[in-house]
Amino acid sequence: MEINDNLLRPTSLNDFIGQEQLKYKLNIYISVAKKRKETLDHILFYGPPGLGKTTLANLISNEMNCGIKIVNAANLEKVYELINILLSLEPGDILFIDEIHRLPRQLEEILYSAMEDFYIQVIVNKNESSKSVHIDLPPFTIIGATTMFGNISSPLRSRFQICERMYYYNINEISNIIKRTLNVYNLKYDELAIRNIAKRCRGTPRICNSIVKRIRDFCEYNKMKLVDCKIVNNVCKLLNIDDNGLNYEDYKYLFTLYNLSNKSSIGLESLALSLNENVKTISDVIEPYLIYKEFIYRTKQGRCLTDKGIEYV
Ligand code: ADP
Repeated sequence: MEINDNLLRPTSLNDFIGQEQLKYKLNIYISVAKKRKETLDHILFYGPPGLGKTTLANLISNEMNCGIKIVNAANLEKVYELINILLSLEPGDILFIDEIHRLPRQLEEILYSAMEDFYIQVIVNKNESSKSVHIDLPPFTIIGATTMFGNISSPLRSRFQICERMYYYNINEISNIIKRTLNVYNLKYDELAIRNIAKRCRGTPRICNSIVKRIRDFCEYNKMKLVDCKIVNNVCKLLNIDDNGLNYEDYKYLFTLYNLSNKSSIGLESLALSLNENVKTISDVIEPYLIYKEFIYRTKQGRCLTDKGIEYV
């Protein structure tokens, strides 16, 4: 049987592992909205990639028994594209906008009235004269997701009544997610192997699933039935993932910082130039996990290695 990624996604709040506080709050918002027969307030999820923002949006639509339309802001360019999506919404629907920080300004402005008062103002050109037409929309919920909270303009941010940060998962939560995925793949495992995978997953379910997928390939290819530490070590060595979950990009970052900083801090721009990497990728994708692991810290002057970071290098 083909096992696609949808089978790895939890479909209800009960099935969703971790993020306990967030789940607790969402459960309240969903219950009362259903009881009052209202739509949910607009929700913004932010945090590093792969922590479950899309999964939550889908399961909220399941819990609310409503439709969901999914778009990525990076694919929206023209005003009419967004208007067409808004006009296609049914009452109570969820519109999930991934990477919402990438929405062009003109499109973002259309969302202001749509989110606040459920209408849009469209300029129609007819016989060389143009007029503005008011179009009512049904009540609906926007769920936005972003890895770059700081890049969302404050007018847009302020229209999300619920704004929730997602956190890295702890070892126990990640272990449970790994077990869940191994069960979906019908693979047997020993407990030590689970811990071994968990410490390499950067507290991130997406990474945990991608490691487990490669382990599944490895087991199948080698006709192995039980996932043990030896298999995990072999696969992670092939994938270049170390005991801390660090990979080539992280090593490059840490060694460059070590070589440039000489125990003082170094500015983000200089670091980006040396790494030939985008400033935003460094601050929003590479650094959060290194900070979480206490290998580096940020100051006003720039970035510094901690003692733990220096020891690692
Ligand atoms: P994001 O939208 O934050 O980038 P996703 O929702 O796409 O992350 O999640 C990435 C993968 O991790 C999905 O395939 C999903 O199956 C899995 N996943 C995310 N959160 C959880 C969780 N809490 N429990 C189990 N699996 C999860």
